[in-house]
Amino acid sequence: MTKTNVASNRQIQAAPIGWDDRTLAEMLAESERIFTDTGRYWGVERLSIKEDDPILYEKIWSRLRGGLVAARETALNISASPIVREIGELCFSLYTPEGDSITLSTGIMAHVHTMSMAIKHMVRTEYEENPGIAHGDIFINNDPQLGDVHNADVQEFLPIFWEGELVAWAAGVTHEIDIGAPQPCGMPIGTVTRYEDGFILSCEKVGRDDQLDKDYERRSESATRMPFHWVLDEKCRISGCQMIRATVLRLIEDQGIDMFKSFIREVIEDTRQAFVRHIKDMMVPGVYRAPSFMDVPHAGDKGAMPDYAAVDTLMHCPLKLTIGEQGSFNIDLEGASKWGYHSFNCTPAGLQGGLWVALCQTLIPNDKVNDGAYLATTFTTPHGSWADPDNLSVSNTFAWAFLIPCFTGLVHSISRGFTGRGYLEEVLAAYPYTGNLAQGGGVNHHGQESSWTNFEVSSCGISARWAWDGETGCAAVWNPEGDMGDVEAWEIIQPVLYLGRNIRPNTGGLGKRRGGSGFETLLAIYGATNQVMFNAGNGHVFSTSGLFGGYPGASGYRHSIKNTDLADRFKNKEIYPTHDQDSGNSQIVETVNGTSERDRRCWHLPNPHQEYDVYLSILSGGHGLGDLLERDPAHVIADLNEGYVLPAFAGAHGVVTAEDEEGNWSCDGHSTEQRRAELREQRLALSMSVDEWMEGQRSRVEAMDFAEPVVRMYRESADLSTPWISEFREFWDLPAQWMPGDSP
Ligand code: MN
Repeated sequence: MTKTNVASNRQIQAAPIGWDDRTLAEMLAESERIFTDTGRYWGVERLSIKEDDPILYEKIWSRLRGGLVAARETALNISASPIVREIGELCFSLYTPEGDSITLSTGIMAHVHTMSMAIKHMVRTEYEENPGIAHGDIFINNDPQLGDVHNADVQEFLPIFWEGELVAWAAGVTHEIDIGAPQPCGMPIGTVTRYEDGFILSCEKVGRDDQLDKDYERRSESATRMPFHWVLDEKCRISGCQMIRATVLRLIEDQGIDMFKSFIREVIEDTRQAFVRHIKDMMVPGVYRAPSFMDVPHAGDKGAMPDYAAVDTLMHCPLKLTIGEQGSFNIDLEGASKWGYHSFNCTPAGLQGGLWVALCQTLIPNDKVNDGAYLATTFTTPHGSWADPDNLSVSNTFAWAFLIPCFTGLVHSISRGFTGRGYLEEVLAAYPYTGNLAQGGGVNHHGQESSWTNFEVSSCGISARWAWDGETGCAAVWNPEGDMGDVEAWEIIQPVLYLGRNIRPNTGGLGKRRGGSGFETLLAIYGATNQVMFNAGNGHVFSTSGLFGGYPGASGYRHSIKNTDLADRFKNKEIYPTHDQDSGNSQIVETVNGTSERDRRCWHLPNPHQEYDVYLSILSGGHGLGDLLERDPAHVIADLNEGYVLPAFAGAHGVVTAEDEEGNWSCDGHSTEQRRAELREQRLALSMSVDEWMEGQRSRVEAMDFAEPVVRMYRESADLSTPWISEFREFWDLPAQWMPGDSP
């Protein structure tokens, strides 16, 4: 390159790429200043396109949104990963030059705002100057501190230029099967710092002229155990972004650049206003509280983890939603417990991911979704908590583990608001913790170093609704298009045989409306030895309650049988296990000989399994709604006949049942009425007023007469939040300086 060329290239680089000769950073600063001053996105006063030509407005919206959905549906076929192809763990979004989301495709909507934060990081830190932003450039990110939930979600960004100005960003995200961590899986468990999370790319420029850089290609191919999936997923993301770029440029050719520029600002302001209207229409102003919890049982891992990490922890999310009279919407996590030396810390970007995927499916399922809705919400997160660690070296690799329970509180709160306003058909008793997530790795049945993450976990039971039971095994909050995937597809990438996949009784929480059931999968390691396996789910605690007296869905347990006689059983054509069904009467234990390992440690370090070892995976069921004594006896009988509830639990409903010789259940109506009357009498006899109960518990609270992890949890909450401990003291009538437990 000649000297002149270098100079002219620098000159081109130096010209601002924002609108009207401004840099992107200047545009972002101005946008934020105007929003603070006016409360409106870019100060948009009048929705002029929408009001003057509503058909054109919707046409432009549909072209953009349709373009993104089409990009997703087409690009996912490039991927070879069942997580992307079958389960649809991908999403595309379109952003303004400053990084505000304009519209997004279907899929993992969690990323509507995480990718916004990544773009804003690049804008704020002046990537425009270094490394430069030009047509054809490719940027990649999976750093939760810059804008992601966890590093398994890998994002790609393509800037879109029109006549030298950057007019938008196309972005796409997929979830990766392997992330190059020391442990073989996409979401390692038992990591103590970020340095064990695996391959992290922090908003890096990795391509130019629509081509990936060779040095990056080599690095990505050697950084993970499944380069084939990584490379094809990346092609999927880039192709989708290129399709979106073409859609945007065609739209600008048709409608003109001025119309495009006006539209993208107006549609964000329109969505902001719609969100506020929606809150006013559907919610009752006030304060809603709904806590949730998660057990992190690492005390049993002493020796395998540093002592300071090998402890049992209870994570605390005391979610408080405040709805203002003018439609304001604030989520407050004051009282959240401290970050920890475990895999489940989150970042503010991750929290936004969890929030938006929950809101898209509850409050705003029919509205346009973009960052306008984000601008209508505020979030209070205590610095130093698991949700916003003040230690930047913490691990985030499994941030979803507590994000999922955390936002059950949001759904509980919104459902109470819906009930107050009479939108009963919208009421939902939250959603279950979406475990068990089965992961594993080792040299696989193709002889390759490998790892796998089984995403049938995207089909848990749905919680009960006001007038209906929850659906069985059909969705997960983080993936609105839940799909368990074909068994055969999983068997291609996992060295396992599916022995059975069945509805799991008693996973759905009981109530007037029952939570949808989870299902169970029974796997045998096959074609490979020396595999490590993980479970992932709540074992010791319920993450949340049911609603209006409904019971929570079941918590889980892990169960593997090792050194089995399965190989001989196959050879001799003997019976082999296909299900577990009932922990008290397990068919696995009855039909296979071997060493049974069963406990409630559903989070644990890599656990070695050999060929023909059996691994049980129990997928969660939803929470119940309403009093189980009000459940229609006919529904209890149907639950027995269809295998949703075990016979031993039918009696809890006060339903008197009988089973005929063919195993069909029926109900004795008269005896049931009598039995329910007796149970109500018993309840009355056992009941006490809230005042009496609090008086009985107060001394326990003051002395912190609880298990050590519970005391430590309260102490962390108190240390991190003065507002929270003040309210706690007031609630329990404790002395002004009282603190829970010893200072750590
Ligand atoms: Mn993910």
